[in-house]
Order: sequence, then structure tokens, then C-alpha cells
Amino acid sequence: MKGYERRSPGAPVEEPVPPTTMMITRECPICHIFHTVQVPTEGWFRWKREGWLIQDAFPGIPKEERELLITGVDDVCWQQLWAYLEDEDDDDDAA
Ligand SMILES: [Zn+2]
Repeated sequence: MKGYERRSPGAPVEEPVPPTTMMITRECPICHIFHTVQVPTEGWFRWKREGWLIQDAFPGIPKEERELLITGVDDVCWQQLWAYLEDEDDDDDAA
């Protein structure tokens, strides 16, 4: 049972800051490792629900982490993917 909890008007209000970030976990489709990115909740809703561009919704997080949110592919795998694609391009040695 909760009674009235009155604050005296002059008392400083110190309340815990509500969580404003959320942890997003994605499985990399290439290496199948789970990666977690912490994003601002506000930005997440802007991106997911309001259709903001990800770079506008999350200006504070690195490009690699934004890629992770979009595709799930982590930076290490991107590097390997690009190296692979560049190899493919030059297919002299292709089997
Ligand atoms: Zn990966």
C-alpha cells in the first residue's frame, strides 16, 4: 500500500535518470557472433518508427556500429567482405 508521498516544495528533486539507451543485439550473418550496440532510445524510435536516416537518428555512434544495426555485419567481416569482393573483381585466379 502506497500512501501519499509529499515533497515539500522547496526540497531539491533528485530522481534517478530513466534509461535513455537500449542495447541492440544482432547476429552477424557471416561469422555468427552476436554483437551488442548501445543506442539512444529516442534515436531508435526515430529510425524504426519515424523513418529517419540512421545517420540522423544516431549521430553519436560510429559508422561501423550503424552498419551493424542495419545489416548485422560487423566491422571485421566488412573488411573481409570488401577484400573478397576486390579479389572477385580481379578474377584472373578464379577457379
Ligand atoms: Zn562477423
